[in-house]
Amino acid sequence: MMGNTSGSGSLGELDDLYEAIILDHYRNPRNTDPVDSPDIDLEVNNPFCGDEFQIQMKVENDAVTAVGITGRGCAISQASASLLAELVEGKKSGEVRASVSSFRRLLQGEELSEEERDVLGDIEALGGVRKFPIRIKCALLSWVGLDDALKEHLAK
Ligand code: ZN
Repeated sequence: MMGNTSGSGSLGELDDLYEAIILDHYRNPRNTDPVDSPDIDLEVNNPFCGDEFQIQMKVENDAVTAVGITGRGCAISQASASLLAELVEGKKSGEVRASVSSFRRLLQGEELSEEERDVLGDIEALGGVRKFPIRIKCALLSWVGLDDALKEHLAK
């Protein structure tokens, strides 16, 4: 599944197509606008790399009706945050939490079902990160933060 083509560039040996998806989200992050009176508002950071993000969400009738993720960090963390922001908008909280679980498993190198891969779509591009263990934290940062915050919010 992963090619070993271009060896140069900060992303190392990620497949070209995957690299294009990651760079696109890094350069043009999705859903970065602040959310009005968010139900969830948290900051996450990864001190090992200097990645920092603010995550805001509005949750109504058990669905994410608005999401905004802003911040700065390495290309992987920023692309991952953008892909996450794009994924969760309009999703039921259960679907969001299931997707976070699929993404974790992807980064652990587990086989995903056809259905899980369909849900993740372009996010599968980040699967190549598992070859660089130090980057896994960068990729998971916003996902883990959002998942924990959502779980906490639902428990209220
Ligand atoms: Zn990073």
